[in-house]
Amino acid sequence: MITTLKRIVDEFNRQTVLEKGLHRVAELVKQTMQTECCSIYLADDESRHYLLMASDGLSPRAVGSVVINYDQGLVGLVGQKEEPVNIANARQHPRFLVTPQVLEESYNSFLGAPIIHQRKVLGIISVQQSDAEMYDQNSVAFLVTLAAQLGGAIAHVEAREAIDRVERNNVRSRALKGVAGSGGIAIGTAFIIQPKISFSSILPRRTHNIGREIVRFKQAVKVTQQELSVLSGKMNQILPSDTSAIFDVYHHMLNDNLLGEKVHAQIHNGWNAATSLKIVIEEICAEFEQMEDPYIRERMTDIRDIGQRVLTNIVQKELDKRPLPKNLILIAEEVTASMLAELPREKLKGICSIKGSNNSHAAILAKALGIPAVMGLEDLPLNHLDGRATVLDGYSGQVFFNPDAIVTKEYQALLAEEKELDLLVQSIAKDAAKTKDNIPVSLNINTGLAVDFEVARGIKADGIGLYRTEIPFMIRSCFPSELEQMELYQRALDAYPNKPICMRTLDVGGDKPLPYFPIKEDNPFLGWRGIRMVLDHPEILLVQVRAMLRANMGRGNLQILLPMITSIDEVIECLRLIEQAHTELSEEYDQVISYPKVGVMLEVPVAMYQIGLLSELVDFFSVGTNDLTQYLLAVDRNNSRVANLYDYYHPGVLEALQYIAEQCEKYAMPVSICGEMASEPVGLLLLLGMGYRNFSMSAQSLLKAKWVLKHTSVEQVQNLKFQTKSLSSPEQVRQLVEVLLEQNQLGGFIRAGK
Ligand code: PEP
Ligand code: MG
Repeated sequence: MITTLKRIVDEFNRQTVLEKGLHRVAELVKQTMQTECCSIYLADDESRHYLLMASDGLSPRAVGSVVINYDQGLVGLVGQKEEPVNIANARQHPRFLVTPQVLEESYNSFLGAPIIHQRKVLGIISVQQSDAEMYDQNSVAFLVTLAAQLGGAIAHVEAREAIDRVERNNVRSRALKGVAGSGGIAIGTAFIIQPKISFSSILPRRTHNIGREIVRFKQAVKVTQQELSVLSGKMNQILPSDTSAIFDVYHHMLNDNLLGEKVHAQIHNGWNAATSLKIVIEEICAEFEQMEDPYIRERMTDIRDIGQRVLTNIVQKELDKRPLPKNLILIAEEVTASMLAELPREKLKGICSIKGSNNSHAAILAKALGIPAVMGLEDLPLNHLDGRATVLDGYSGQVFFNPDAIVTKEYQALLAEEKELDLLVQSIAKDAAKTKDNIPVSLNINTGLAVDFEVARGIKADGIGLYRTEIPFMIRSCFPSELEQMELYQRALDAYPNKPICMRTLDVGGDKPLPYFPIKEDNPFLGWRGIRMVLDHPEILLVQVRAMLRANMGRGNLQILLPMITSIDEVIECLRLIEQAHTELSEEYDQVISYPKVGVMLEVPVAMYQIGLLSELVDFFSVGTNDLTQYLLAVDRNNSRVANLYDYYHPGVLEALQYIAEQCEKYAMPVSICGEMASEPVGLLLLLGMGYRNFSMSAQSLLKAKWVLKHTSVEQVQNLKFQTKSLSSPEQVRQLVEVLLEQNQLGGFIRAGK
């Protein structure tokens, strides 16, 4: 059954036109289920009806014209119930709708299943036959499984079609909706980066230029052959000959005219080189899958691998030649720190990521750079977007490709207002942060990307509240040496002389992998992360702490922060290692070097119940609301599927933050907030109301926060903590605070426009 399902979905994906794809599915389902009719209806939300898009069994004339309202007929019933409907005699059912154009008089039984994607009914697939008998359980299971798989594929194609429709018919553009990752508006040109082009991401494309596509394929094969020769040369030196013989097999496959001939045939059928290769590789793999012999079946992996290499050389080479657009909107499956580091800052205007959520580290980087970002655009037809005009709204998480003139004009006006707002907040860049009723607040910077860049803005900050040391580790090809680290840390300490610079020890793992130290885990966020990893590798921690202490010599403004602390023992062990590094250096330099303050991040929920004991060991706390939220809610902060569940305004999360504030007061411990929540006006005011007075955020958010504080009094916010107790959802919390922001004329910081 799995192979059949896969084949049907693959066939659908192979068709360039939605209607044809659906028609092919209808044909195959009818055949596979050995039934008399299969039809597919798609939902039109604006008109609130289903349109018959394809059928093998109903009158072809009805296709494309028959519509059934959401509350009509059996098709409507399936959509309303959001579950399969299986009826032996449809005509006797009270919801049966007589639709003469479809010519269904001969059918009696009806089975329909909803096609659902992300909780939304996209359409209905139904089968019918003359026997007045219900379909059996296997048939129901088959149709439901197929419908579930079709959901994602249809959403993907619909997104693509929506983009093209604007281009073709000059209709109004529809926004694709993702998750707001970093506030702001960007207008520019889509620029796709694909680290590895996968076959599944190749959308079928036709060509008129057969000669050019043949040359493209041949060149890609040639380059792949050269790459393989280099690779096998290297491997021969380090691998036993039977293992490196695999490269001979690869060479053989490429030299073998069979692959070439098959691909050429597809190109002559009118497909471009990448699509032709995809079709051929999939056909060969499907043949191999049927083989009894496990050894031969295994060769499928080789075929895929070789196909992948050739594909990369077809597609990537084309992409690499592109000039960078002036206003570049970066689009990738997963935006990484190194992508951002490689692109010129002055051109990079916006970021879209298929994977990730509002608090993935890519979103945090985007905020640090002040670049609007939308994350979790799951249905984005990546291959289809390069070079398209794009408008991105990082407040609402909307992106328009090929925006129509009205959308573009609207957003140009909003962008101009945004720039005005930026100028306005710049006017208080040098002022100290305080509330409207003159309560001083400490505003610090989260950094790790480029201290110099942020400092150059001349923003008055009270120090660096979180220096994420892992970013310099992530964009290298091996662990940086003690000396390299020392120089980096010196620059950070010098950025704000005499002000506290809080450096966090390495916090890799989770969604921050090191390319040269791969960690493979099923649950990386619950795994070997942060302090857990470096305590198992004290040599990494010791080198880092030594570099920090050395950088601090003659400066004295270093603080060390320990991430992901779960137990008292971890803190004791870290303190022992810091002590050890300190003693070593004092001996090496023959002087007692200064000892930094040490703090703990409160981000693993259990740590908040140990604030009393921790207070005896460390000097301060910093609340990591990003992780605290993910662990309290059991929602992966990086997973776009559950992005709607990740919310620091969940009243339960607010309770926890209130508790932390009270505990820190009880034990007279300094506490700051370094998670992203503080950088959002709504979060800032809630935290201010709870009693927090020390915040750390990206330099870009800091000025806005200063402005928001200047126009809000503590008196206005101190009751929020009581009011939120009776609220049941994050939306209600948000609304409550947004009213206050609008009252204080601060609405321009939470949405596009002034
Ligand atoms: C946090 O978890 O809130 C935090 C500041 O650390 P990071 O986002 O780097 O995990
Ligand atoms: Mg964290």
